[in-house]
Amino acid sequence: MQYWHWLAVVSLAFVLLERLRPARAAQGTFRPEVANDLAYLVFNGHVWAVLTAGLVGWFAARTDGALDAAALLPARAALADRPFWLQFVVYLVVSDLLQWCVHVLLHRVPFLWTFHKVHHAAPVLDWMANFRFHWMELVVYRSLLYVPLLWLGGDPAPLFAVAVFATAWGHFNHANLDVGIGPLGYVFNSPRMHLWHHDASNEGGTAKNFGIVLSVWDWLFRTAYWPRDRAPARIGYPGDRDMPRDWLRQELFPLTRRRGVPEEDGAPGLAAPRGPGGAA
Ligand SMILES: [Zn+2]
Ligand SMILES: [Zn+2]
Repeated sequence: MQYWHWLAVVSLAFVLLERLRPARAAQGTFRPEVANDLAYLVFNGHVWAVLTAGLVGWFAARTDGALDAAALLPARAALADRPFWLQFVVYLVVSDLLQWCVHVLLHRVPFLWTFHKVHHAAPVLDWMANFRFHWMELVVYRSLLYVPLLWLGGDPAPLFAVAVFATAWGHFNHANLDVGIGPLGYVFNSPRMHLWHHDASNEGGTAKNFGIVLSVWDWLFRTAYWPRDRAPARIGYPGDRDMPRDWLRQELFPLTRRRGVPEEDGAPGLAAPRGPGGAA
């Protein structure tokens, strides 16, 4: 099965799960900007993903030999010919840590935050929000992430399995699902924890919970904030009125930024005070 087949299967599963056990029943399936987010799902999940994967593969293939000759691939011997499950775990942990680092950069580098705003401008969260992100994010993630992963030199099958698993877990994190994972929340991310990453207020710091699949990085690096007894009052970011509401203009953002709207987003993570309960 190709990636987009898995994407369709996983997405349909979450459509069903959200109907069975919604966290916010009034939100419904056809919530604001649902057509927008479907456009993101097709473009980011298939069209743009295929194009950027081809470019990254081409680049990796050309740099691989040179690095090998210069003995700059020490991990290669460690991963090649290992069992599937071991390669899966190594790829998952390494890629998730790299993604956590990239996600922090997306919030803390003002230029990158400009593009990541598109994801945070989602007015409500459900599984579809997982693929709502600016095309530039795939360029940043793929170039900083997939080339080092290809350089690890393992087999394509476990790397593909990690991509499908991370997609399913990303859907889960954004899903409108009333599901807790108990003590596993100290290792894995979850809908209740990721909801606080989308919090529009600066409670606990304007940027918190950067984890993708694993939450353990946030607990380790003290960027976790998760009041277990409630959800954030508002999803978004302080200056989200400057975000256009249709897919094409969001993809062209920030060129299409509305004029006359004050810039007040303040790049989350910059000088953000961390309140009580941070890193709890
Ligand atoms: Zn973010
Ligand atoms: Zn998110």
